[in-house]
Amino acid sequence: MMANKEGSEGPLWEFMENLGKMQGGGGNCNLRCKLCNTCFKGNYYRVKGHLLLTPNRGVRQCSSVDDDMLEKFHKMEDAAQTKKALKEASGGSSANIPLPKFEDFGKKRKGDNSISKSFNVVARDELDHLIARTFYASGLSFNLIRSPYFRKMIKHACDSQLKGYVVPTYDRLRTTLLQAEKANVELHLKSIRQSWTRKVFLKAVDATEEVKSAESVGKLFLEVISEVGHENVVQLITDNAAVCRAAGLRVEAKHPSIFWTPCVVHTLNLALKNICTPDKDMSERYEQFKWIGQIDEEAKLIRNFVVNHSAAFTIYNKYSRLKLLGVTETRFASTLILVKRIVQVKSALQRMVIDESWRFYREEDSQKA
Ligand SMILES: [Zn+2]
Repeated sequence: MMANKEGSEGPLWEFMENLGKMQGGGGNCNLRCKLCNTCFKGNYYRVKGHLLLTPNRGVRQCSSVDDDMLEKFHKMEDAAQTKKALKEASGGSSANIPLPKFEDFGKKRKGDNSISKSFNVVARDELDHLIARTFYASGLSFNLIRSPYFRKMIKHACDSQLKGYVVPTYDRLRTTLLQAEKANVELHLKSIRQSWTRKVFLKAVDATEEVKSAESVGKLFLEVISEVGHENVVQLITDNAAVCRAAGLRVEAKHPSIFWTPCVVHTLNLALKNICTPDKDMSERYEQFKWIGQIDEEAKLIRNFVVNHSAAFTIYNKYSRLKLLGVTETRFASTLILVKRIVQVKSALQRMVIDESWRFYREEDSQKA
């Protein structure tokens, strides 16, 4: 076993043989895995990477670990983590920092002492602070406080006064409890599927690896349609890319009662793009609409200059709290959003170029050139 230095404790050490300290290796040891005989240099972080088969830990994953052992190792780690957390909660280091002074709360209103006592004002205030600290310490979104589930949980905990209740372990949260909740949701979905009167999100398929052909996309659509029952499907909406178009026609051919419709926004987007693209003979149409493309280019030029030059960016941030957005090309109306924003921050951009430090910046820049 290792000494009680931080990071060197852990249940998985028992599967490691310590071959002695490396020269000058701070905390790193020469280790041999008792299971697969692999030797490596590392700390407990890497031991976990090796035995729990975690990728990207700078160590090879153990070849002797099977599913049962992996399960066992996870349980051992989980138990150790829980023990550590309990130890911290009952007088350990970080969880024991005193809360803000809540005792003052009850004293503020003189003469109310009996009332505040009966309503347990101090204990309530303490709970407020404990909840708040949970948010701050774990970086939880403040929106969580509005979640009906969160509020219900706290209310339930307060109402039922379960003395000695132990919070679920990490392992239980990601296995048993998760599976139970999933089964529950599926059960409730069943009744909705039978009637199809409400909106439901069915599924998302990650098709990044698949070749986007009319066959594969069409197959996905047909799969979902047969899952739902084709008599329950009225319309299919996709974007207007050639592949989706062909797939939509396939579905129409198989189920004549289903209509395929291209997404209107996407169609308009394509049409506008076409209008603004110069064509070979530089037609009258292009002459009339080329200002759109020019504005788009100028807007992007301004944005890229400010964002990519750190000195300019610093000066800009002094004058504007609004960010210069980088809207992805694939998003609809990206040009419009960017131009709108540049108009919004126009005065900030103007003040940027008359700023004292802008002068130096330009000089520096011209010297470089
Ligand atoms: Zn090994």
